[in-house]
Amino acid sequence: MLIDPCELSPSYVRSIAPYQPGKPISELAREMGLEERSIIKLASNENPRGIGPRTRAAIDAALADIARYPDGNGFELKSALSARYGVEMGSIVLGNGSNDVLELVAAAFLGPGRAAVMSQHAFAVYPLATQARGARAIVVPARNYAHDLETMARALDDETYVIWVANPNNPTGTYARADAVEAFLRRVPERVLVVLDEAYNEYLSPDLRGDSVKWLKRHPNLVLTRTFSKAYGLAGLRVGYAFAHPSVADIMNRVRQPFNVNSLALAAATAALDDMAFVARSYAENLHGLQQLAEGATRLGLDYIPSYGNFITIRVGRAAEIYKRLLRRGVIVRPVGGAYELPEHLRVTVGTPEENEKFLAALAASLRD
Ligand SMILES: *Cc1c(COP(=O)(O)O)cnc(C)c1O
Repeated sequence: MLIDPCELSPSYVRSIAPYQPGKPISELAREMGLEERSIIKLASNENPRGIGPRTRAAIDAALADIARYPDGNGFELKSALSARYGVEMGSIVLGNGSNDVLELVAAAFLGPGRAAVMSQHAFAVYPLATQARGARAIVVPARNYAHDLETMARALDDETYVIWVANPNNPTGTYARADAVEAFLRRVPERVLVVLDEAYNEYLSPDLRGDSVKWLKRHPNLVLTRTFSKAYGLAGLRVGYAFAHPSVADIMNRVRQPFNVNSLALAAATAALDDMAFVARSYAENLHGLQQLAEGATRLGLDYIPSYGNFITIRVGRAAEIYKRLLRRGVIVRPVGGAYELPEHLRVTVGTPEENEKFLAALAASLRD
């Protein structure tokens, strides 16, 4: 071929910068010749509790039918979500992780000649999903690391069809309270979809958690997304969902792969949703862990962004260098320079109390090196 076949791809696809995931434990073990058991990974906001016994039992039971295709409509999981949240079945879209659901929004509503609004320092999937469809990203500067919802509502133009809002946001951990989000929803015209990504909703204290589901009635342009990857501990299985107006859900389901959520994930999520005690313990332990990491950072003289998620973003100065020193000590965290534009910060997932201690000790040593 006279041309690089890559050139055959649309220019908006070719200019996508690859997503940088947290480094897997197995990769660091290979690179550094370390024992996998000696490595701690606090890089991808996974649940240090793992999964509960009831969820494990549901996965074991689902293995018996693994030769069959999953239920493409996810009837049982949707029924469980419908019963829990009082949302009709036709308003639910299931995804291979909530990342998939975000992609479905982009596939259904974005394209060349269209635009999406998002915040600086917001979840990296928003610019990726936007760009992959040939749509234009309108990035609004953050305010004190948080989404500036007022300015975001003003930033939309005639070509804007989607506004991405992460609440709490990753990687900053910032949170917009219910009254601020409601005021924002009233300001955004109905012709623009608001995607409210609530991946960390289960980590919010009950007094802070607005009843976002009830906003769906008043705002047909609202899409709520949530996941089983974080507080429910199912990141490896990939399952998440959206609640939306039935017409929006219908369009999203049309661009969905027929079997986008696998059968183990469906069974596990249905069981996990029912295990309220597991989520309650995850919440309580996370609160302690956040405090432990925040106090540890303060003892080291470091600032951090107060977090409402299961992670905390700490200002360490030369973050790329500190990240490498931590790797050499068998501790994987997440640098948030690059697309996140936080070159002095590291994002650290709340681990078990022992993992948090080990991280803080490694951080202290890495700052001294
Ligand atoms: C982790 C995360 C998600 C979803 O991840 P999935 O595993 O795909 O469900 C979505 N949004 C934000 C802000 C996240 O941090």
